[in-house]
Amino acid sequence: MREFLKTKGFKMTPQRELIFRSFFELTDHVSVDELYIKVRKKDSSIGYSTVWRNLKLICKVGLAEEVNVGDGITRYDHITKVPHGHLFCINCKKLIEFNVEQIIAILAQTASDKNFAPESFKIEIQGYCEECSKDNKSDSNGFSQKQQKLN
Ligand SMILES: [Zn+2]
Ligand SMILES: [Zn+2]
Repeated sequence: MREFLKTKGFKMTPQRELIFRSFFELTDHVSVDELYIKVRKKDSSIGYSTVWRNLKLICKVGLAEEVNVGDGITRYDHITKVPHGHLFCINCKKLIEFNVEQIIAILAQTASDKNFAPESFKIEIQGYCEECSKDNKSDSNGFSQKQQKLN
């Protein structure tokens, strides 16, 4: 990691190393707050803005990318992972991942049909997770209204 950063023109400081390591120890979709809490447990002298700046740096060097689902919280995905889509529950804010291998093939074909060179893609479905839609079903009125919206 130290060498990698050097090739990108950045220095690895002990603080930075701690923040980077903490980020990769956390599982998917890390928010700045989550990372901050984790970093503070190891070194309480590190401030919020330092954590935020280093998270931006992790993105800049291509090891993470921002995931925005429109709830005002920016989360960060490890980019070393295989491409995946997101199912976002608008009720409990849960982010579930799914395999997009087949979808990517279709997207790539679509792009090449239009002589378009794709750089990135985003596959996201917003709705209600299993638990939250169970809650919705008990309120039969709300559920049928939602169904109508879909049609
Ligand atoms: Zn993800
Ligand atoms: Zn939910």
